Amino acid sequence: MSDAHKETRAFQTEVRQLLKLMIHSLYSNREIFLRELVSNASDANDRLRFEAIAQPALLGDDAELRIWVDADAAAGTITIRDNGIGMTREEAVAHLGTIAKSGTSEFFKSLSGDQQKDSQLIGQFGVGFYSAFIVADRVEVLTRKAGTPEDAGVRWESSADGEFTVETITRRERGTAVTLHLKPDAKEFTDGYRLRSLIRRYSDHIGFPVLMRKEGEASLEYEPVNQAKALWTRPRSEIKEDEYKQFYQHISHDFTEPLAWSHNKVEGKREYTSLLYVPGRAPFDLWQRDAARGLKLYVKRVFIMDDAEQFLPLYLRWIKGVVDSADLPLNVSRELLQQDPEVDAIKSGLTKRVLDMLARLATEEPEKYRTVWREFGAVLKEGLVEDRPNRDKILPLLRFASTKEEGNEPTVSLKQYVERMQPGQERIYYVIAESIDAARGSPYIELLKERNVEVLLLADRIDEWVMGQLDAFEGKRFKDASRGDLELGSLAGEADKAAQEAALKESKGLLKRVKDALGDRVSEVRTSTRLKDSPAVLVLDEHDLGTSMRRVLQAAGQHVPEAKPALELNVAHPLVKYMDSSTDTEQFNELSQLLYDQAALAEGGQLANPTAYVQRLNRVLVRLTGAQAGG
Ligand code: ADP
Ligand code: MG
Repeated sequence: MSDAHKETRAFQTEVRQLLKLMIHSLYSNREIFLRELVSNASDANDRLRFEAIAQPALLGDDAELRIWVDADAAAGTITIRDNGIGMTREEAVAHLGTIAKSGTSEFFKSLSGDQQKDSQLIGQFGVGFYSAFIVADRVEVLTRKAGTPEDAGVRWESSADGEFTVETITRRERGTAVTLHLKPDAKEFTDGYRLRSLIRRYSDHIGFPVLMRKEGEASLEYEPVNQAKALWTRPRSEIKEDEYKQFYQHISHDFTEPLAWSHNKVEGKREYTSLLYVPGRAPFDLWQRDAARGLKLYVKRVFIMDDAEQFLPLYLRWIKGVVDSADLPLNVSRELLQQDPEVDAIKSGLTKRVLDMLARLATEEPEKYRTVWREFGAVLKEGLVEDRPNRDKILPLLRFASTKEEGNEPTVSLKQYVERMQPGQERIYYVIAESIDAARGSPYIELLKERNVEVLLLADRIDEWVMGQLDAFEGKRFKDASRGDLELGSLAGEADKAAQEAALKESKGLLKRVKDALGDRVSEVRTSTRLKDSPAVLVLDEHDLGTSMRRVLQAAGQHVPEAKPALELNVAHPLVKYMDSSTDTEQFNELSQLLYDQAALAEGGQLANPTAYVQRLNRVLVRLTGAQAGG
């Protein structure tokens, strides 16, 4: 046969890089290769069982799906074998020579060169098969795809030197056998006792029996080493904490510990079991649009698909887990999942479970919840807009930096904020800037700070979008301190109001002169209630687009209409007082422009003409220093 020839192929560049990494930087945890290969064998059995639903003939007379692990101390080899789906020659070339996952290039970009960190990333990326080369200097794969004739077997081999060979062979057994020719310093792994304990430790929850030869001289009889029962089908009370953790690592390829999990069985009109985990850190592709997300879907214990994203909303895309439905048809497809009302019902049930689990973590284990917020807070916030029906469950989960806290880490909850509001305070104040530090120093909150009113400090890209849509928490309305009126209510004393009115009367002339100088760059010039130290600020209307939204939309190529802010003046400020008494019109106009430009800068906006600003500022400085030199 012409295509039976043996050919030598080069690994994809990324695979070559990865192999180098595997070989040179994974000294600790070398035993993970076994977990990865057993997991691949289990996946292969799962896939065959799934295909056999439609095509029972695929199973033939070999219907009991299992995994065998053999070690040969004399030859220095370990073989992991399954009777699952197998691979065709093309599949072997594609799957064992390239990395097909989305985000491959991001993965390589995120490698730091730090062994410890990078080995964690490798785990997270789930490039299991290639981990064989951590312990082997040569790997041989014999395989035959289910449903193909015996002469369509495949032999694949590589010594990780940049190339692999592949040839067509005759193979009686269906499925795949991976043989590792161990490196001299990895021979210890042929020890039967060691292998058994590794399998129990890492692969106990695999849904198929993992068999090893019985101990004793040349025994040919195999016995199961693992429990071979899907973890989520066992009663909660019987499952140890460690088993839950290992199962998490198995499904997530994340080898840090999960922060929490929730294991539930729903019975009655609809029946399903779910096991959901809160990971301890964000995956490297959390912000990538096409990143894989979602749960592992089983129907009546039969594996159906990975990454079933229909069971959780987008803002919970970082939750890992399994859902096993008793009601969905076994032949369900992604398309069908999208339309099935049953799926929507499960989705809303699971969403509540996750939100409850997070609420529990937030109150009972605040340290762990801090990690959740640090890693996933920005995504969780999207839920305020994406999932309005659950808004009341999400609001208490939010954490903020605040003027009442020293550090910039968001730790303040809305509940805490409301509890320590000033007497007479009716609004929850917040301010959004480019950074938490910029928000903390924002001119908009000068008066609030002076009055000891707490202000929440925000700096995430989506904050303006999200916060603008919130109405109230526990009856207290949210208020952006940089917009409209501060709505101080009874916080502003009578004396304040009187002083305000007096200032307004006295400043009428000044306000008009500044407005004339600025023309229609501003909608209005008025006296300010919010300033203490700064001479002026630009204030948008309640419903105008803010700076960051404006930037997001402009970046997306949209035309954004100019917003015309009001300029608020601090009439108690020496500079403003000086202007009021100035009769030099040219100088007055120049100072008005400067005030405007400075206010735009402080707001985090960009100047239309930075050069003009600098020249203007220099003219004023020259005049000032010139006067001093002359005096
Ligand atoms: P992953 O398991 O995350 O897909 P791996 O690197 O572990 O990544 O495996 C790569 C691919 O190789 C698998 O997706 C599968 O298509 C194929 N493969 C590996 N081991 C087996 C096996 N025992 N039987 C069939 N296919 C396999
Ligand atoms: Mg794998």
